[in-house]
Amino acid sequence: MESIAENLGRIAASLPREVRLVAVSKQHSAASVEEAYRWGQRLFGENKVQELAEKYERLPKDIEWHFIGHLQTNKVKYIVPFVSLIHSADSLKLLQTIDREAGKCGRVVECLLQFHIAEEESKFGLDEREAGEMLESPLFREMRHIRIAGVMGMATYTGDREQIRKEFRRLREIFERLKQDYFAEDPVFREISMGMSGDYELAVEEGSTLVRVGSSLFGERSY
Ligand SMILES: *Cc1c(COP(=O)(O)O)cnc(C)c1O
Repeated sequence: MESIAENLGRIAASLPREVRLVAVSKQHSAASVEEAYRWGQRLFGENKVQELAEKYERLPKDIEWHFIGHLQTNKVKYIVPFVSLIHSADSLKLLQTIDREAGKCGRVVECLLQFHIAEEESKFGLDEREAGEMLESPLFREMRHIRIAGVMGMATYTGDREQIRKEFRRLREIFERLKQDYFAEDPVFREISMGMSGDYELAVEEGSTLVRVGSSLFGERSY
């Protein structure tokens, strides 16, 4: 197993300048985060609220934390004071909660709309019709403490590269259509979060701006 520093160097070198690496540190220790931090990594992602809140407390305050997992409305308040991007906004109710909690701490929190692009059944992620309805709803238009910064999706867990490519391409098309229909004048709407350890090179070829890489960087997780 190579060191975190070696992995980070290799992955960072393989990414075009305009693509940012979200180092997914879930289920890895604060010491692992610190090692990547020492080598210059400042952007980290976590998928559990409690684990994120604990790491935020312990680790340097110039780390930019992204939340990438399913977010329950009753836990929003624990991360809103410091999180810099929530990748997994997939309902109006969740956006309303983020908006309200962000308002309480005087923040504007950037969120990505999560889309269901995989073939696998999943409870999480919007389809285009749902997203359109949400973006047109008066409740959404009244929100002042969130900004939609782009889209996020996860491809099917498969060895079929063409299938994965097709799904990433679809997310890119969704991004372009939303941009044209709702965010044409909004420079904040700019991110396409797609690609993980097994498929981030493909995702970059298809236009990803944020790759979320965990195991290739920190090693396998023990579940
Ligand atoms: C765990 C996770 C990742 C990283 O997965 P790896 O395969 O370890 O790179 C990316 N995105 C989300 C949403 C995750 O939960």
